[in-house]
Amino acid sequence: MSGGPESNKVVIIGGGPGGYESALVAAQLGAQVTVVDTDGLGGSAVLTDCVPSKTLIATAEVMTDVAGAAELGVNFHDHEGDPAAAISVDLARVNERVMQLAADQSADIARRLAKEGVEVIQGRGRLDGPNRVVVGAQTLEADAILVATGAAPRVLPTAQPDGERILTWEQVYDLTEMPTELIVVGSGVTGAEFASAYLALGISVTLVSSRDRVLPGEDADASHVLEEVSRRRGMKLLSESRMESVTRDGDVVTVTLTDGRSIQGSHCILALGSVPNTTDLGLEEAGVILKDGGFVNVDRVSRTSARGVYAAGDCTGVLMLASVAAMQGRIAMWHFLGDTVHPLDLKKVSSNVFTAPEIATVGWSQQAVDAGEIQAEAVMLPLSGNARAKMQGVHDGFVKLFCRPGTGIVVGGVIVGPRASELIHPVSIAVAESLTADQLAQAFTVYPSMSGSVAEAARRLHRV
Ligand SMILES: Cc1cc2nc3c(=O)[nH]c(=O)nc-3n(C[C@H](O)[C@H](O)[C@H](O)COP(=O)(O)OP(=O)(O)OC[C@H]3O[C@@H](n4cnc5c(N)ncnc54)[C@H](O)[C@@H]3O)c2cc1C
Repeated sequence: MSGGPESNKVVIIGGGPGGYESALVAAQLGAQVTVVDTDGLGGSAVLTDCVPSKTLIATAEVMTDVAGAAELGVNFHDHEGDPAAAISVDLARVNERVMQLAADQSADIARRLAKEGVEVIQGRGRLDGPNRVVVGAQTLEADAILVATGAAPRVLPTAQPDGERILTWEQVYDLTEMPTELIVVGSGVTGAEFASAYLALGISVTLVSSRDRVLPGEDADASHVLEEVSRRRGMKLLSESRMESVTRDGDVVTVTLTDGRSIQGSHCILALGSVPNTTDLGLEEAGVILKDGGFVNVDRVSRTSARGVYAAGDCTGVLMLASVAAMQGRIAMWHFLGDTVHPLDLKKVSSNVFTAPEIATVGWSQQAVDAGEIQAEAVMLPLSGNARAKMQGVHDGFVKLFCRPGTGIVVGGVIVGPRASELIHPVSIAVAESLTADQLAQAFTVYPSMSGSVAEAARRLHRV
């Protein structure tokens, strides 16, 4: 239970992973904790972004497996040999499941916070100086404040979502009928994930990218595999195509590009990035400096420029991941409440793009190696040579590892393949614990297994 009469008072604004995970740590360390949240515990991560999209993708994964089942000798009868025709997706049911699962998870978090003695106030919080938070008529005094207000989808005046056919990623779960021609604008992680998922559900998809490739921020070899697989499965990829506007006329949505071309479809998803929820929070008045784009400036222990005010998660723009938000929040609480604290190290973060195939990365990247930011040796091993991959009909993907030339210490890796999000973990441990490629190669892997390729890649980095 948190909070004796003398305990520190911590007020957290925002109930997403940045907020609720830090509330748990603060309560564990004996603080008196209040979480102020507008939309429901779990934040965007649970209610509109991470959890709903990955639940939708779980259905897409089943469809991807079905599409490849014929190769493994599975016949679908009565539909003239076309497996896709034998199976269909009920989008209304899928979305119902998505929303139920998100609501359940939010309720789980609420129960957990209540159990740990954390007070939750529903409402919009605003700083009144560095030691006070105002929620409606209520004023909360605080020894420390954590700002974890997240971010919202970026929209443009020329591309206004209508919630029916022009949609932000938060609105897609209201769809009850399958789009016939879906246009996804934006080829970052969110755009790529939705394009891949809806394609697998059997929808015709065009992905509009302003850059020369999808996932411009990710490993180029990984992007290449994803583009090749997506094209093979029928996705239309438009690169170097900058959206000028999105308009709707009845059932038809038109995306006009800056070079004058236009594409028509039945629906459009806007995946144009996020803007931080930092306006009108009283931040600057409390002495909190904001960076370009309105993100809160924080150091590696989540301190802002105002004493006693910390910030975590998407509102800081450090790395927009639920896992990073949670870690920034925990670090803030460990720091404020005097527990052992290691500053945030982005070179140890593992992340995943939930496309088909998945793309998981950890540590230093190929771009950084090529730019000379770190010296590293690299090895890239296609999954197609892996015995388990052959058995499962997996043809695409690879394992890539980076290690330091002298010591052989593993500093990064990329895995492209089914369940890459799970496969990356041994590489993550190696990076976190500064293991050498030899040590990574030494541990037994199951035969046959995809993880065998991780060990094999590590063996190839052995130097005599
Ligand atoms: C489509 C999509 C998929 C994603 N998938 C993944 C994934 O698979 N893995 C991953 O790690 N990350 C994923 N992310 C990123 C992840 O969702 C975010 O990094 C994460 O939500 C950040 O957490 P947060 O606590 O900073 O903010 P949020 O989760 O946005 O929570 C902030 C909360 O604060 C509330 N709030 C805002 N202002 C106030 C106020 N003034 N007073 C009170 N409450 C307020 C908001 O209503 C919200 O509930 C995804 C993002 C998107 C868009």
